[in-house]
Amino acid sequence: MAQTAAPATGASAITPISLKALAPWAVFFGILMLVLLYFVGAEQGATAVISGEGVHEWVHDGRHLLGFPCH
Ligand SMILES: [Zn+2]
Repeated sequence: MAQTAAPATGASAITPISLKALAPWAVFFGILMLVLLYFVGAEQGATAVISGEGVHEWVHDGRHLLGFPCH
């Protein structure tokens, strides 16, 4: 006897998200990740946007974890 999946009652169907609706969010999070990568990987010394060691100290462990040169 073959069994078939019964449709779930009360469950709403999942509607797919179009690429056109998703694209601005992908660009936004891509830029956000690039800024984060900059602060973790290059915010130090001559390339520093924010003076002082504060940002460097906050991301220092991540910097070593990702293998960026540090000290
Ligand atoms: Zn270090």
